[in-house]
Amino acid sequence: MSNDLTIVGVETTILDVPLVRAHKFATTEMTAQPLLLVAIRTAAGTVGHGEGVVPGGPWWGGESVETMQALIERYMAPVLAGRRVNDITAIMADIEKVVARAQFAKAAVEIALHDAWARTLGVPVHTLLGGAFRRSIDVTWALGAAPAAEIIDEAIELLETRRHFSFKLKMGALDPETDTQRVVQIAQALHVKAGVRVDINARWDRLTALKYLPRLADGGVELIEQPTPGDQIEVLAELNQLLPVPVMADESVQSPHNALDVVRQRAADVIAIKTTKLGGLRRSRETVAIARAAGIACHGATSIEGPIGTAASIHFACAEPGIDFGSELFGPLLFEEELLTTPLRYADGQVHLPDGPGLGVELNPDAVKTWSRN
Ligand code: MN
Repeated sequence: MSNDLTIVGVETTILDVPLVRAHKFATTEMTAQPLLLVAIRTAAGTVGHGEGVVPGGPWWGGESVETMQALIERYMAPVLAGRRVNDITAIMADIEKVVARAQFAKAAVEIALHDAWARTLGVPVHTLLGGAFRRSIDVTWALGAAPAAEIIDEAIELLETRRHFSFKLKMGALDPETDTQRVVQIAQALHVKAGVRVDINARWDRLTALKYLPRLADGGVELIEQPTPGDQIEVLAELNQLLPVPVMADESVQSPHNALDVVRQRAADVIAIKTTKLGGLRRSRETVAIARAAGIACHGATSIEGPIGTAASIHFACAEPGIDFGSELFGPLLFEEELLTTPLRYADGQVHLPDGPGLGVELNPDAVKTWSRN
């Protein structure tokens, strides 16, 4: 039967895709990004894809492509076998019975189910979410960790070619004094021309944050992302009260309930929504709903997804009015190698919703083969 939705296969492949330049985080640096491709095949021969991806390794949330592969193959695939790809709510509830947490791995599976279901119906994934509310979204670019002068040149070139109009800088790898001076120098050079945001990835303690964050705000930084440890919601709330610029919660919000904590304590003005860390499209939507009800903005954030994961996040951001604070869905631009037959379209500071059934993107099998780990 050509529309048979029964799941007959779940395959996973680890890829290591080289990046255009090293991407630096507070505690690690990567020159290639590992991706776990998850393919769910139906009896009709339709294949839906999802991507298990974390930013460079397990430092962010404890998961890696290797742990995701083991959890999916050994524990989730048996739950999927013989079920229908449109049985998503029940399947994810059953997976919850055998695998706790591991939201990045669950997101890969949940998104592959949506892709397979939408492809069977011949509709885009956003249709399953109620349709596209917008067709494109702003994309902030993550600047590298090179000396300030080089970073300023990179930003100015991107502004002149109209690829991006705002920028994010990673902090937390250097000592706070040097780091703050570097960022303020960049923010001042780009002042008026472009917005500059920082992400400290939860690396500063409260006293360091109290000392240096006001200097960043005075220096022209327009938004401060997750300065202090994720579970210290009250510290984030204290800093949010103190600072004249918006604070964004990322590590602090890994579940809808975490969003409720942020709302209760007014700990952030913006919440970073990653379809990966939140376990897929449906839990992302629950999280956005909580923020939106409380008047807190949401940002379409990234774990440096490849094109499959990025396409899923674009469908989500375009279907969800609550993603009202732009995005950083730049992942594919950081990859040196194109994995799609037709690349995602970035232009004029935005990324565009791809057309076509499912996620609207097609993997190039040769490229997938080239970058497969084994
Ligand atoms: Mn972040």
